[in-house]
Amino acid sequence: MAGMHYDIVIVGGGAGGLELAARLGRKLGPKAGKERVLLIDRSSFHIWKPTLHEVAAGTLDTHQEGLSYSILGRANHFSFLLGELDSFDPVAKRLSLKPILAEGGKVLVPERGVTFSWGVLAIGSGSNLFGTPGADQAHLLERTEDAEAFHTRLLAAFMKASFSTEKTMSVAIVGGGATGVELSAELIEAHRELLDSLGAEQRFRLDIAIVEAAPRILGGLPEKISDQATVALERKGVRVHTGAKVVAVHPDRLETSQGDIPADLIVWAAGVKAAPTNADYGLEINRTNQFVVNERLETSAPDVWALGDCAAAPWVGTEGKEGRIIPARAQAAHQQASYLAKALIARMGQRRVEAPFVYRDFGSLLSLGENKGVGALMGGLGGPNFFVEGLIAKWAYISLHLDHHRAIMGTPKTIVLALARLLQQRVAGRLKLH
Ligand SMILES: Cc1cc2nc3c(=O)[nH]c(=O)nc-3n(C[C@H](O)[C@H](O)[C@H](O)COP(=O)(O)OP(=O)(O)OC[C@H]3O[C@@H](n4cnc5c(N)ncnc54)[C@H](O)[C@@H]3O)c2cc1C
Repeated sequence: MAGMHYDIVIVGGGAGGLELAARLGRKLGPKAGKERVLLIDRSSFHIWKPTLHEVAAGTLDTHQEGLSYSILGRANHFSFLLGELDSFDPVAKRLSLKPILAEGGKVLVPERGVTFSWGVLAIGSGSNLFGTPGADQAHLLERTEDAEAFHTRLLAAFMKASFSTEKTMSVAIVGGGATGVELSAELIEAHRELLDSLGAEQRFRLDIAIVEAAPRILGGLPEKISDQATVALERKGVRVHTGAKVVAVHPDRLETSQGDIPADLIVWAAGVKAAPTNADYGLEINRTNQFVVNERLETSAPDVWALGDCAAAPWVGTEGKEGRIIPARAQAAHQQASYLAKALIARMGQRRVEAPFVYRDFGSLLSLGENKGVGALMGGLGGPNFFVEGLIAKWAYISLHLDHHRAIMGTPKTIVLALARLLQQRVAGRLKLH
């Protein structure tokens, strides 16, 4: 097996890993950065994961939003290698990547080995199906391919409903957390845009049900926000079933503790769990397969760190949060990337950053459709407070996304890209219908 060596190897170019690679590369400069920092990802292009519900609804086009890792590497002075992690040996400081197969299963690129001085795991997480029978048949929103597959099915279902006698299509979303709520808001947006392009004869109703086992949706947010979001969603025609446990997922319905919910499409957006293969890498993991790290994001092996969703990091320095782990959020991955960039630069200079990573929670950032959608969704609600909080949340979500782009592209390119996308939407419309 051919081998190569880099000082710093980062596996996973998502919200956290890509920012880390870009920060390190820029800090080390054009020559040293490319030679010393390697980013590995199983995909050749990057999509910021919190936008996957927009990809699923068709309000975001991956061909425009996707950023090539190779081009980002060139601009930020890091090397990129396409491949899926196969083995990771923290003692030998060596990893291997699965072969890349061509269509028909022929080996295009054989298995590759990489050794490193310092390794970082930033491979994210997936869904927790809680052992529910049939749940693996539901659509997930773990990867870009999942969101695109859902979008293709959504367009087909829209088409079918448009020419059916019932003139209705239904979506059941398991999980009333941020992802489920954001997805339902985005689907309402997509449906509204589609109806604008259809004649009266072809119009149809979209029936969305959110199924949540807990007593309220958005359990991580203050109760007032959950109540108001429930009212807002119900006004838009979304049925919110709380305290309903999903017993089984069938191709055409959800079987719940409160009865059956028929659906043309079913999305599983509940729970977070890291990959079971994380257990094979010789590092301590927790019950949800996250790598256990200390307050400096160090794993149980020397010179190996983990950040983002795949890491269980202790929440230190915030009153009332002691003993808890930092939530799996893009804002956590973003903050951890800048902390770790400093820590790794110090380590390369034989120093050690002793200060712990302190997570600053800026609240839950929800995207509830485009600005008009936020207004429409929340405008009719009791009191101006929720409207204002909604706009703040929307702005916070946008600024987190912009922060991510600034970290990987710099400010001028971020502004140009944001303007280009705005213009593109004005010309071609917001909804992707192909
Ligand atoms: C629909 C949706 C909406 C969300 N909205 C928000 C929000 O509003 N605010 C917020 O803070 N958070 C939100 N989140 C959560 C947020 O997306 C994650 O917390 C964040 O992306 C975690 O960053 P990460 O770098 O740990 O992992 P990821 O961003 O998931 O990146 C992991 C990377 O690792 C790569 N990878 C995985 N396994 C391998 C492997 N074996 N080999 C090679 N590469 C691998 C993947 O291709 C990916 O590029 C949302 C999530 C979803 C799904």
